[in-house]
Amino acid sequence: MRSYCRRLDLILDTAEGSVVRDVTGREYLDFVAGAGSLNYGHNDPDMRAALIAHLERRGISHSLDMFSSAKRAFLTAFESLVLLPRGMDHRVQFTGPTGANAVEAALKLARKVTGRTNVIAFTNGFHGVSQGALAATGNRHHRGGPEIPLYGVTRMPYDGYLGDGIDTAELLDRMLHDPSSGLDAPAAILLETVQGEGGLNVASPAWVRRIAELASTSGALLVVDDIQAGCGRTGTFFSFEPFGIVPDLVVLSKSISGYGLPMALLLIRPEYDVWLPGEHNGTFRGNVHAFVTARVALEKFWSTRDFAADVARRSNLLARRLAEAAALVPGATVKGRGMMCGIDVGSGAYAAAVVRRCFADGLMLETAGSYDQVVKVLPPLTTPHKLLDDGLDILLAATGAVASARETRSSSGLVTA
Ligand SMILES: *Cc1c(COP(=O)(O)O)cnc(C)c1O
Repeated sequence: MRSYCRRLDLILDTAEGSVVRDVTGREYLDFVAGAGSLNYGHNDPDMRAALIAHLERRGISHSLDMFSSAKRAFLTAFESLVLLPRGMDHRVQFTGPTGANAVEAALKLARKVTGRTNVIAFTNGFHGVSQGALAATGNRHHRGGPEIPLYGVTRMPYDGYLGDGIDTAELLDRMLHDPSSGLDAPAAILLETVQGEGGLNVASPAWVRRIAELASTSGALLVVDDIQAGCGRTGTFFSFEPFGIVPDLVVLSKSISGYGLPMALLLIRPEYDVWLPGEHNGTFRGNVHAFVTARVALEKFWSTRDFAADVARRSNLLARRLAEAAALVPGATVKGRGMMCGIDVGSGAYAAAVVRRCFADGLMLETAGSYDQVVKVLPPLTTPHKLLDDGLDILLAATGAVASARETRSSSGLVTA
């Protein structure tokens, strides 16, 4: 079951910002960032201080779903800094602390609201690995686990899946409206605006708007899984903000606590909050320590526009330097949006070689995509320009070295693959 630690084989000890240290004292730049759970870096000093203060004053640490001062402070900050400025009046449901549990809640609720079973999810989508969420996840490796049918989901092609010039929203439109298409009326349309695990595929604003419209005209709830793309990763708090849509349900997890603590929530348009008390129950609904750090994260990074502007500048730097790296590999392309980006180098073996080389040189990276062919670059959003540049220098050197090693081997006739 081990996965990340097979490739990133070190014994982690301490960490600060974008740098982690292993037990021997060796430092690594962390451009994995907990798969997007550490958007504000490791051990942010203000979050740490607030958490220590909470512990020192015997702040409550577990409260089931009862009210607490920490929960109140988080909700107040979330409402005033996130929801109200974006014209959203969604209710906040704290689910169990994993992304998958919040996705389960979203699918359950959409089915309960509509009385329908079918959920439309997309190729390369990743929504977690519990059985309900797994049904919506595309990845065959993960889907192979349970050996029982994964049902209730119809797979449709994501934006760009069939190549340029084929509008997959048009296909969905036709199938939804053709009474003989075989597509059952959906309870929900579930999507990521940038597919994190699926290979950093980006949906265009027009496509997302059309899907939102189709959800509305077909009586389905639009569910955006913003677990990885949210919390600033693409440049705005929610990944869908620039598109001018407001989903019926939004799933957040990963970086919502700000500190890498487990926390997940579901945002629900008030008219769809048809839950009965405790219906989607759970012992750890509302991690109090996460409330403390999550509040600080919102107040520190989202009370002005400065942070979003910083992220935009860093995104530009990333895009520019990733284009340089991609230019070293024939056929490689830059993927992603904002600081959720990477390069598709065409094969899993190639991407793994780049990641291995980077790791040896002190940079932690991961891969994504159908064939793990995308080198994924997910630095903390707070990474200073200097460290971003250092990391990208390592990536460029590694990409070049792997490219020339391949060149030499294939021209000497040793390797033909
Ligand atoms: C990570 C992730 C999930 C699952 O979250 P877990 O906490 O691992 O259950 C779901 N959707 C997306 C988009 C994710 O990135």
